[in-house]
Amino acid sequence: MIVDIYSEDKEIVAICSDYWALGDGGQFVATVAEITNKYGINSATLLKIVSNNSSAFSEDMACPVCGEMYQFKNRSDCNTFIPVPGWVCDTCVAELKEAQEQEFRDRLKSDYESCANKNIEITSLGFREIAYLLAVIRRSAAEDLSYILPHEENRTATLSPEFEFDIEILRKLYREGLIAISPLSDLDAFELNNEGGFTFYVTRVAWNFVMFEDAKSPRSIIEKIEALLASGDYRDDRHNEIVELAREISLLECLSYLEYVVAEHQLSFTAGEKTKIVLNQVLDNFSVAQAYNLIWRAAKDAAAFYMRSGANRKHAANTIVGNIQRQLDRAVANNWEVNPFRRNYDKPQSILSQVLFNTCLRTDDGGFSEPLWKLI
Ligand SMILES: [Zn+2]
Repeated sequence: MIVDIYSEDKEIVAICSDYWALGDGGQFVATVAEITNKYGINSATLLKIVSNNSSAFSEDMACPVCGEMYQFKNRSDCNTFIPVPGWVCDTCVAELKEAQEQEFRDRLKSDYESCANKNIEITSLGFREIAYLLAVIRRSAAEDLSYILPHEENRTATLSPEFEFDIEILRKLYREGLIAISPLSDLDAFELNNEGGFTFYVTRVAWNFVMFEDAKSPRSIIEKIEALLASGDYRDDRHNEIVELAREISLLECLSYLEYVVAEHQLSFTAGEKTKIVLNQVLDNFSVAQAYNLIWRAAKDAAAFYMRSGANRKHAANTIVGNIQRQLDRAVANNWEVNPFRRNYDKPQSILSQVLFNTCLRTDDGGFSEPLWKLI
């Protein structure tokens, strides 16, 4: 052991020397009690004096990076000490980590620079792409438009009716190079793998804007997309794409509400293809607001059936789709009016729905209150 005492005070030097003094057998010569008695101090004072005025190092373990020897924290650390092969000191670990982080940030920066400009025009993008891009920008762009905040940071505005679909939107924009990972993203959003590559959480990274041939600034990207959506010619050209996305959003609204009411009645249900087919048939005839009515009634009946029959939650929930189908068939055959519901407080209109139904189709949440065949 190497002991370094920095004080000039003779008594302090003596206290520290006594504290760290080792006998031939490698045991401490005096106990803590003996030292405190000798100098008339308590053990807290002793430890304070020792740690403020001395350091003790192990000769058996040194940092291979800076050569610094391992420093004992106190006597018990010394007593239980076993040298660890390959040990690196805290300072060097911190420096190494910082260097690695800087290297990773440099890499993110060069990745971004290589895809910051896209050699295409916004006008050549599909309707879905520009609707997604505008929705993400409207929801998450920083106030000064310098970047796009991580999806997770905004917990109030919903991007689409379903979280899984939000992820799909971000993935698509990223894969098609319409947004790029910001080098300033929180590094916790990434996981490095052994092959030198990395994976990232699509909802945790921040994004940078990607520039286009016909839009070289974030502001002009927004203006360009909004102008396209406002153009009647564009809407005519992209009619089929608009119908397709409108239908998808309406179906998501129905599925999301279905999940909500099923959970409210504490039933257990996972919507599959059959459910989607039936809900699509509902949307052929009715608005989402009216579909809510059929869904709500079916879930209520399923809950009553569960209470009455003693069937399990899953079996009870499985009656919902058939119930919606029967209500639909009867309503259509008898030309019944189906009362529209209001939007649920927990399910406000999503930003993507606003982009499509308000900005592009110029309705006030028409995707909820109007049947699709009346809108487009
Ligand atoms: Zn070191």
